Amino acid sequence: MRALCWTSGGDLAVRQVPDPELRNDHDVIVRVRRSAACGADLSLLAGQAPGPAPDDVLGHEFLGDVVETGTAVRRHRVGDRVVVCASVACGACWYCRRGLPACCDNGSTEPDAGEAEWGHPVAGCFGQPRAAGGFAGSHAEYVRVPYADVGAFTVPDSVGDDRALFASDAAPAGWMAADLGAVRPGDVVAVWGAGAVGQLTARAAGLLGAGRVVVVDRHPGRLLMARRHTGAEAIDLRHTDVLAELRELSGGRGPDVCVEAVGGAAEEPRSLADRFTGRRRAPEALREAVHACRKGGTVFVLNGGARLVDAFPIGAVVHKGLTVRGARQHGQRYIPMLLDRMARDELRTEHLATHHFPLERAAQGYALFRDRPDDCLRAVFTPHDQIDGRVGR
Ligand SMILES: [Zn+2]
Ligand SMILES: [Zn+2]
Repeated sequence: MRALCWTSGGDLAVRQVPDPELRNDHDVIVRVRRSAACGADLSLLAGQAPGPAPDDVLGHEFLGDVVETGTAVRRHRVGDRVVVCASVACGACWYCRRGLPACCDNGSTEPDAGEAEWGHPVAGCFGQPRAAGGFAGSHAEYVRVPYADVGAFTVPDSVGDDRALFASDAAPAGWMAADLGAVRPGDVVAVWGAGAVGQLTARAAGLLGAGRVVVVDRHPGRLLMARRHTGAEAIDLRHTDVLAELRELSGGRGPDVCVEAVGGAAEEPRSLADRFTGRRRAPEALREAVHACRKGGTVFVLNGGARLVDAFPIGAVVHKGLTVRGARQHGQRYIPMLLDRMARDELRTEHLATHHFPLERAAQGYALFRDRPDDCLRAVFTPHDQIDGRVGR
């Protein structure tokens, strides 16, 4: 089959790779209908270690049709249209049973690599390096989905592909930030980053009853989209004193919940040496979130691409009594609820799919997604049809 691979030079190319096969009774094989580029992939493309190996297939946000099922699969049949959680969890270990699937002990083919990187093995993720699971990605004609009863979800007929696609990764990430960030009715919530995850965090905060939601970004097109589709207010950080503005609109205190959702694009390594040591420049959005947050509030960090950061304002965390949390999306916990809301038209995400490309042009899709010359919010790849160009609203 054809798939988008990381090449030995660190570029992307569509190559011929072996078809995936069932390797476990709990697997299914999915024929991909849609697969989206995610901000987390940009960290990989920026050359950040630990990177993918040559010929690794990228991509983790996807939906498709089940074409083959293992003998132990109970919830899926051939022909089901499913959205697959970007992260891979077993559903049965100590962490999964406690509602923490992204912390799964059995979700990685390379637990030692995860342990070396983060102190513990964590759930896998499709199309990521070994430390994050070592599973082939979704920018391909077919994908093997392990633990399919746990991580694949049948999409209601009324929910279109471009809407359901984002239930794989961006929507659960955004919902989780609002949920675990403890957004309460009436809260003021500020979100740094108006990409797909930031917009869906803003929408989740609104649905959870936030009184005021503000999105901070430097791209006018994204801010406009966030205002139009999430009901959030927008702050263009290029023209505004962000801290003063946030204080002004939160009764002088600062937002109750601050979410950093800037993704991998915003914090590129400064130099070649930084790439090798994993050192990065100061995390500007996170630092601003910590300074802006009201005393006793919560800062939630979604940027899984960040490894080590300099100049983290730990003093502000202590003196202001902040709660700082982070997580990779616990999608298995949220996706059924998100699909219900999508079916009820409460949660609309299709506007995020601004550009569609056939798989052959996926490398160009990534370039557009990274450089955003055309207000590209998400590049979506369609391995089996010939949709090309701008289709979003
Ligand atoms: Zn992602
Ligand atoms: Zn588990």
